Order: sequence, then structure tokens, then C-alpha cells
Amino acid sequence: MRTPIVAGNWKMHKTIAEAVELTRGVRRGLMDLTGVEVVLCPPFTALAAVREAIGPAHIGLGAQNMYFEEQGAFTGEISPLMLAELCQYVILGHSERRQFFGETDDGVNKKAKAALAHGLTPIMCVGENLEQNRAGETARVVGGQVRAGFQGVGATEAARVVIAYEPIWAIGTGVAAVPAEVNRIIGLSIRGVLADMYGEDLAQSTRVQYGGSVNPTNMADFAVQSEIDGALVGGASLKADGFVSIVKTVSGQT
Ligand code: PEP
Repeated sequence: MRTPIVAGNWKMHKTIAEAVELTRGVRRGLMDLTGVEVVLCPPFTALAAVREAIGPAHIGLGAQNMYFEEQGAFTGEISPLMLAELCQYVILGHSERRQFFGETDDGVNKKAKAALAHGLTPIMCVGENLEQNRAGETARVVGGQVRAGFQGVGATEAARVVIAYEPIWAIGTGVAAVPAEVNRIIGLSIRGVLADMYGEDLAQSTRVQYGGSVNPTNMADFAVQSEIDGALVGGASLKADGFVSIVKTVSGQT
């Protein structure tokens, strides 16, 4: 049995005060909820304050990016060593980073190895763009991203990675993917590639989230799919009630 995981990607939103307020709202709304792992991913500037606002609650904390070196002359970057002091998760290879900041499969692979070496859980994002989707290349693109992202990662470490399947055309557009199709792609191109690289056990135990215009209304349709283990939520994670409602749907305790 895989424990579903719902992560809120706050992107470049929220001042420290706003982040603390949102965290308090999520914490209040999720009191005593079980059966689902919850992760908040604020901007770097709010990590420490959100950590404090989470306190003893069973809510995880993640960063949205990371560089792969431990330290050095890399102005503006944040290292796994620094993140490990603050949080447990890190989103890697988000499509906005691939699209706007030149992130490559190779870079994601280096970051994943560095994160794992420092005890962080990577949430590794993969997904095809609209042209690739229309050209029927989704399975090949997503499978290739998974294979590249896990290159040289040992089985023990690989077992700790969470994957987020996020079709790029569904992110922030209000047009979510079709749940049954997401289920098919995860089975074929994500669990299929993992099975090829590490065997069926690891493929079946790895958690794979869906991401792309998830909201409190459509979450239920994704949650019932056999291959989907929760969600990576952008826009709808910026308000406590919406995010809490998504988490409750995933937990089955609405
Ligand atoms: C995301 O940022 O990963 C995301 C899925 O965004 P949204 O939910 O807004 O589509």
C-alpha cells in the first residue's frame, strides 16, 4: 500500500507573514487527519518561518528547487546541505524551471542524487508539453525523463523518490488532464520504466502524484485512479480551505 502524498507548490507567492498565515490555516484544517502525507513548499525566504508555524503538526516542508553542489561560488543558489537544516523535501525539475531557467534532465539527475545524499526526498517532476502530447509522444517523453532523472541512482535511494507527473499544458491553465489517461501514462511510462530499471517491487511502491490544475472539485476523479498517489498542487494550494479540501478528498475523510 502506498501512502498518498499531497504537496502544495506555492511558487513565487507569499511574503513571510502571508506564508505563516496560510500554514496556520492548513494546520487548523488538517488536525487529526491520517492516511495522507502533506507537504508545504513555500519560497526559500519563508522556509524557516513556515517550519516554525508547522511546529509539531504532521506536515512536511519542502523547497521548490536546489543546486546540486554543497557549497561554493554559485551566487544565488541554495545547496542541499542548507535545505537539510530546514526541510525534508525538495521539488526538482518542475516544468517552470525547465521552461524558464534552462533546467535539463541531466541537471535534475545531479540534483536528485545530491538531495538523496543529504537525506532529502526529491519530488521529481516530469511531463510532456502540448506539442508532444498532440504528436502522440507523451509516453516516450515522460519515460525518457524518468530514465534520465534516475540515471545512476541506486535502488535504495531510488525507493525514496516521489514522482510528480505534470503535463505542462495542464499546469496553471485550469484544464486538467483526463484522469484515466494520467493513470495509463503513469502505469506505462513511469512505473514501466522504473520496473525496467529497478524491478517490479520498486515500481509498485514508488509514489506518483498527478499535477496540473487540480482543485477541490476535480481531485476526487484523480484520487480514485489506481496509479495516482495524491497530487502536486499549485494555484489551489494558495488558499487554506481549498488545499485542505483537496487533502481531505485524497485521505477519504471529507
Ligand atoms: C504546479 O505548480 O506544479 C501545478 C500543478 O500548478 P497548478 O496546480 O496551478 O496547475
